[in-house]
Amino acid sequence: MVSRVIPVDPFDLVIFGGTGDLARRKIFPGLYRRFVDGQVPDGCRIVGAARSEMDHAAFREFVGAALAEFIGDSQVPDQVAAFLDIIFYCPIDAKGTSGWADLKALMRDGPVRAFYFSVAPALFGDLAERLHDHGIATPESRIVVEKPFGKNLATAKALNATLAAHFNEAQIYRIDHYLGKETVQNLMAVRFANILFEPLWNSQFVDHVQITVSETVGVGGRGGYYDTSGAMRDMVQNHLMQLLCLIAMEPPNKFEPDAVRDEKLKVIRALDPVAASEIVRGQYRGPKGHTYLDEVENPESGTESYIALKVHVSNWRWKGTPFYLRTGKKLRGRASEIAIMFKEPPHSIFGEGEGWKQNVLVIRLQPDEGMNLRVMIKEPGPGGMRLKDVPLDMSFAEALGADVIIPDAYERLIMDVIRGNQTLFMRGDEVEAAWAWTDPIIQGWRARGDMPAGYDPGTSGPEDALMLLHRDGRRWREIA
Ligand code: NAD
Repeated sequence: MVSRVIPVDPFDLVIFGGTGDLARRKIFPGLYRRFVDGQVPDGCRIVGAARSEMDHAAFREFVGAALAEFIGDSQVPDQVAAFLDIIFYCPIDAKGTSGWADLKALMRDGPVRAFYFSVAPALFGDLAERLHDHGIATPESRIVVEKPFGKNLATAKALNATLAAHFNEAQIYRIDHYLGKETVQNLMAVRFANILFEPLWNSQFVDHVQITVSETVGVGGRGGYYDTSGAMRDMVQNHLMQLLCLIAMEPPNKFEPDAVRDEKLKVIRALDPVAASEIVRGQYRGPKGHTYLDEVENPESGTESYIALKVHVSNWRWKGTPFYLRTGKKLRGRASEIAIMFKEPPHSIFGEGEGWKQNVLVIRLQPDEGMNLRVMIKEPGPGGMRLKDVPLDMSFAEALGADVIIPDAYERLIMDVIRGNQTLFMRGDEVEAAWAWTDPIIQGWRARGDMPAGYDPGTSGPEDALMLLHRDGRRWREIA
C-alpha cells in the first residue's frame, strides 16, 4: 500500500536558527523527505537565517552535509541537488537591525509565508517584533515556536503575550513533536473511528492507565539546560500531558483544531493537584564521573532525571481511574507507550485460578510504532479449559506494508503549518493550563525540601516508584 501524498500550496519558509542542531537533524532532513515524496510543489523557497555570515552557496553546502549525515544512504543525488536549489540563506541577528531588508527581498507575494523560530525562546519576542516592524510578516503569515514554552505559568503567559503583540492565535503554531507522531494521531483514530473501544473507555471498565516515556541516554551535552528544567518540566508538562489529554478527552464533535483543543483543555483543567505521596523523583547514579550530579556539574542539584506521578482526572468519565505517568533517563530501555489496563470481567465462568490476566491495550510510540491488545484465549490442547493471554500485535510498518514510510513527526507538523491546520499544535490557553497544574507540584517539593532518590542506570527507576503502584495492588509494565 503506497501512502497518498497531497502537495501543499507553494510556500516561503524561513528557519531562524537554520544552522542549529534541530535544523540539521530534523527540519532539513524532514523537508527533504517531503520534497522527494512530491509534497513540496514548484516555486517553494526555504530560507535559513542565523547569525553566521554565509552566502547561499555555503549554506547549501551546510544543508547538503546535514542530509548526508542524517539521511545517508537514502539520498538520491538528483533530488538532493534539486532540493538544494530551493534553499537560501540570510545572515540575521535576531536582536540586530541588519539583514531584515535582505530577508524581505527574498519573500514573494503569493506563496504561504511561514517563520520557524528554531532558536532559544528568549529570542521569540525580538523575532516577532522585527518581522512585524520590517513588514515581513503579513496577517496570513504563520510562526512556529519550539519548546520549551515557558518555565512556569508566569513565563508562559509572558511568552504568549509577547507573541500576541504581533500575531494572533490562529497564526501561532506551538510544536510538541509528540503530537506529530503517527501513533499519537492513531490514538484518536482508534478511539473515534471504531465503535469497539469507546464504550469501554471510562472508569467503569478501565482499571488504570500507564504512560511511560523511558530513555536509555543521560543528559549528555544538555546538562546545563537540563538541570534548570528536570523531567517534570522537560517531559511531563508537555509530552506526557498531551498523551494524557488524547486518552482522557471527550470526543470532539469534529476533527478540527479548536474542537480538539477545547476537549484537551477540559482534561487539563480537570486534573487534581498531586499529593506529595503520589510523586516519586529520582536521579541516576552510576560510576564516578557519570552520575547525574557529575554530568550536570552540580553536586548539590535537586533536579530529577526521573519522575513518576499518580494523576487523577476529576470528571464523570474518569473518577476512580488513576493515570500513572513516568519518564526518566538512563533507564533499562528506550520506549514510549500508553497502556490501557482494563478491569476484570464481572464474573468468571471458568472459576478461580485459571490464569486470568487483565486485557491490556498498548499503544506504542517508539520503537516500532504500533498497537498491541492482550486478550484471553483457551490454551490449545486437550487438557481442559485453561486460559492464556495472547497478544494481538499490530506493527504499523508491517501491517501497512514495506512501501509505507512512517513520516517523522517534524515532517508531518511542518506540512500542517503550510496547510494552516493547527489541530496538532498546542493552543496558548492549553499551555498555560498545563503550567497552572505543574507549578504547584514543583513548588510543593521545593517547599518541603524533597530531594530525588538515587537509582542505578539500566534499571526501571527508583524503588519508590514501584511502591507507588504496589500499594494500590498494581504493578508497572516492564520496561524492555
Ligand atoms: P542550537 O543552539 O543548536 O542552535 C541555535 C540556532 O539559533 C543557531 O542556528 C544559532 O545561530 C541561532 N541563533 C542563536 N542566537 C541567535 C541570534 N541572536 N540571532 C539569530 N540566530 C541566533 O539550538 P537547537 O538545538 O537547534 O534548538 C533550537 C530551539 O529548538 C531551542 O528553542 C530548543 O529548545 C528547541 N528544541 C530543540 C530540540 C533539539 O533536538 N535540538 C528539541 C526540541 C526543542
